[in-house]
Amino acid sequence: MAECYTIPGISRVAYFCMEYGLAAEMPIYSGGLGILAGDYIKAAKELSRPLVAIGILWRQGYTEQHIDENGQPYDTFRDYDFSHLQDTGITVKVHVRSDEVTCKVWLCENYGNVPLYLLDAGFPGSPHAWMTKQLYGGGREERIAAEIILGIGGIRALRALNLDVDAYHFNEGHAVFAGTELIREKMAEGHSFEHAWLETRQSVVFTTHTPVAAGNEVHGHDILQQMNAYNGLTYDQMRELGGDPFSMTVAGLRLAYMANGVSKLHGRTVQRMWGHLEGVPLIFSITNGVHPGTWQDPRIKQAFETRGDLWAIHMDNKRQLLQYVKDTMGVQLREESLLLGFARRAASYKRGDLIFRDLDIIDPYLATGKIQIIFSSKAHPADTMGKEIIANLVKFQKKYPNSVVFLENYNMEIAKKLVRGCDVWLNNPRRPQEASGTSGMKAAMNGVLNLTVEDGWVGEGVQHGINGWLLDFHPGEDTAPADQDVWDMHSLYRILLQEVLPTYSKNRKHWVEMMQLSIDMSRWQFSAHRMCREYYDLMYTPIVNNRKNRLLQTVM
Ligand SMILES: *Cc1c(COP(=O)(O)O)cnc(C)c1O
Repeated sequence: MAECYTIPGISRVAYFCMEYGLAAEMPIYSGGLGILAGDYIKAAKELSRPLVAIGILWRQGYTEQHIDENGQPYDTFRDYDFSHLQDTGITVKVHVRSDEVTCKVWLCENYGNVPLYLLDAGFPGSPHAWMTKQLYGGGREERIAAEIILGIGGIRALRALNLDVDAYHFNEGHAVFAGTELIREKMAEGHSFEHAWLETRQSVVFTTHTPVAAGNEVHGHDILQQMNAYNGLTYDQMRELGGDPFSMTVAGLRLAYMANGVSKLHGRTVQRMWGHLEGVPLIFSITNGVHPGTWQDPRIKQAFETRGDLWAIHMDNKRQLLQYVKDTMGVQLREESLLLGFARRAASYKRGDLIFRDLDIIDPYLATGKIQIIFSSKAHPADTMGKEIIANLVKFQKKYPNSVVFLENYNMEIAKKLVRGCDVWLNNPRRPQEASGTSGMKAAMNGVLNLTVEDGWVGEGVQHGINGWLLDFHPGEDTAPADQDVWDMHSLYRILLQEVLPTYSKNRKHWVEMMQLSIDMSRWQFSAHRMCREYYDLMYTPIVNNRKNRLLQTVM
């Protein structure tokens, strides 16, 4: 790989994210946000973009979640081995409460022109290991401490490493304290807060991933003050940035020159949620993408490009998945029967159980094995509702042991097998709550056909009966949740039983054509490469050009 740390004319960007999903062996991610960041830096690497990624070394990762003999999920944590990371020899200091916290800076070395630096308060002998122990673990204090380390520590790491960047990208609100550090630096040079804020905005872009206002992180000012998150700013100044209580998303927006949502639909939702607030910049959308090298079977790619036998390769992937299910669960699913996949965070709006809601309809298909489903999921360790959702899916596995499977401890390795080996990828969240949803893109690239509601990325690619199937669009987003559920359930049964299943069993030729069209629809449009180029072309370059123009104006 080219060692191109700078390319004349191309902006050099520091990318901040709380989690990175690079590989199952590097468990510093929890789900979609981390996988997206991991796919992003892989694509940036392959496109030779100059990018510096900043994250946290989560010594115990997220959670390993298994199912006990009563069918309940339980969490285990352990210290992972990160001895393959490279010690930069650099440390940075931040203040949390009244403590001075020292963080080591590690280099996750195999990302070439896109170095990933991980901040770590958990090295041997550190009294502050709790701050970077478990991703999204602990309570509010742990979260704020980690956000201070990511944001403020991240900027200090860039300075200590002597890395000059043209722009800062805050990927989700966790990173916004980086903005207070950029402001503090300028105030230390003698500028007023207002001037420092204005100047900071000229170099920051912000991406928000949350589609519902309640899902956005908010902290009281008292605890921010106790934790020392003000970073030298005053209450009034912090309130101007994030309001009172302090919203990480609002602060992200007000610290940025431009901001984006992660699908076209989500961009509009973000505009509706925040656009009316004072000090909010232009909000548009850059649709997420996934890294084909990670998610697409190379044999599928080749068969697509050479008009080879997609079906044979698909069946090989399906057999590999069934073998994995047999090895781990002792269940032999049928190769010739339709296989649905559903792997998502355990959140009630995702409605993993929708397909079971009228057993009179679906029971005959599950009992005879005409339809088979593999689920996989993790719930946040403190999320009892999420754990109930998982326990409920496990109950259906017990009820239909030969056609319903729940794979515990969902991670990238399991995701990889599922998005290659299932026939159909099922996605039926309530609307409009999915910002983007990326697993369906991974499936589409492998010729695994999406059966999905029209939410997130789906509206930009999936066409009913052509490269996947869409549930009927119901009367409106304002429909009450319970009514949506009934509507979508009937729609799901009708399309599954009258369209998907007959095509699968009676019209293989059309099925394979749909696979072909699904790969064609997704391989560029929903690739992380397309996404990365858009961030450079639509956000990083304009922000740097704008700054140059302003500079020019002051000179003239
Ligand atoms: C792709 C992926 C996700 C995100 O998928 P969604 O469709 O956004 O829910 C989460 N976890 C893992 C392990 C993944 O591979």
